[in-house]
Amino acid sequence: MTDFSEWFHNILEEAEIIDSRYPIKGMHVWLPQGFKIRKHVMNILKDMLDKEHEEVLFPLLIPEDELAKEAIHVKGFEEEVYWITHGGLTELNKKLALRPTSETAMYPMFSLWVRSHSDLPFKFYQVVNTFRYETKHTRPLIRVREITTFKEAHTVHVSKEDADKQVEDAISIYKQFFDLLGIPYVITKRPVWDKFPGAEYTMAFDTLMPDGKTLQIGTVHNLGQTFAKTFDIKYETPSGEHEYAYQTCYGVSDRVIASVIGIHGDEAGLRLPPEVAPYQIVIVPIIFKKGGAEVLSKCEELKETLKEAGFRVHLDDRDLRAGKKFYEWEMRGVPLRIELGPRDLENNKAVVSRRDNGEKSDLNLDDHFITSINEFMASIISNLRDTSWEKMNSHIRPAETVEEARDEVANNHGIISFSWCGDEECGKKIEEEVRVDILGVQGEYESGKCINCNKPAKYTALLAKTY
Ligand SMILES: [Zn+2]
Repeated sequence: MTDFSEWFHNILEEAEIIDSRYPIKGMHVWLPQGFKIRKHVMNILKDMLDKEHEEVLFPLLIPEDELAKEAIHVKGFEEEVYWITHGGLTELNKKLALRPTSETAMYPMFSLWVRSHSDLPFKFYQVVNTFRYETKHTRPLIRVREITTFKEAHTVHVSKEDADKQVEDAISIYKQFFDLLGIPYVITKRPVWDKFPGAEYTMAFDTLMPDGKTLQIGTVHNLGQTFAKTFDIKYETPSGEHEYAYQTCYGVSDRVIASVIGIHGDEAGLRLPPEVAPYQIVIVPIIFKKGGAEVLSKCEELKETLKEAGFRVHLDDRDLRAGKKFYEWEMRGVPLRIELGPRDLENNKAVVSRRDNGEKSDLNLDDHFITSINEFMASIISNLRDTSWEKMNSHIRPAETVEEARDEVANNHGIISFSWCGDEECGKKIEEEVRVDILGVQGEYESGKCINCNKPAKYTALLAKTY
């Protein structure tokens, strides 16, 4: 991929994921293929959250006074909020915000709901659209003004320990989620100047896109008691005292789909993980003049058997050259193609072609063939996962000095790891010198010196060009 940005734009159009011609900057139309991918991605995460969370749905509009209550929080969003000022011709006496995020919509209600320690923990989530008036250059699925599928969870706990533990649990859910999609990630604790406005701390998942920039694909925030104090979320302890609750929130946006498309895609188009592919298998009959009807009827039979086994399968019986069909389904990223011609029919077999690595093999159409298909699917996702992790890891390089970090960023398009003292002023200086952002810190560091100030290093931190 020589020009990722151009490739990305073209594939969204060609594979009918999104139409970006909607006449509002930063707002796009989901097309049927894109919508299906979106649905499968969303359902994977919903199934995971459903185990311990309950789904709710809050209104899109937030009254101005609620949004303004948490000062640090509102400051973080003030330049990005869309406002509704009129109802018909009447000017509203209280402006209403289109939610930029949902804390200030939910927490006034939490304050009504939380009564006793025995009510807690609360673990809710919702899937909603959120709005941000982005002033930077917008890009479909990556930087948008309407995030159409924000999967956000909000929890309330009796203690700091429980909230800390919830952060760990959320990280583990997101790890499983990205692993299922084969998306590699680095997890860091964001520097204080880049945490979620109002949070104690923010843990973030970033992945590396093919152009060498990192994309934030998930965040987990420990809110401490900040919002509980602002919105008066208190519970009664067993001994009858009233204590402020502890909260967390975490979310994943449409960017996860951008990463699935961008990271797995190649020159021929999409390479979709089986879990989220609209069609997991396409059957292409190879028809000559003689024996066409028999081949077609065997293909139909195959399709029914695969459907019954739970696969999303399509039989492409259009009157087109097989090569043209291959090209199209490869571009759309269908994980597995089955070709069947008259000679295959005689031998009771078919040819299977994998989208991930282009390998072709014979498939015996005996009693075990569904097992073989399942094995192919498992092998496809593990191959996509392994190759994308390898690729990302090969682009994470250490730097010993600020100059080295700057050279690495300029020449190697990836993530730089370095030793850092953890001091805010020093960190900002590093960002300025290297001209990219500090993603965050990965963990405590035993020895070594800060790359910039030479004081003892506290952390291993990561730097990268970001979206
Ligand atoms: Zn330092």
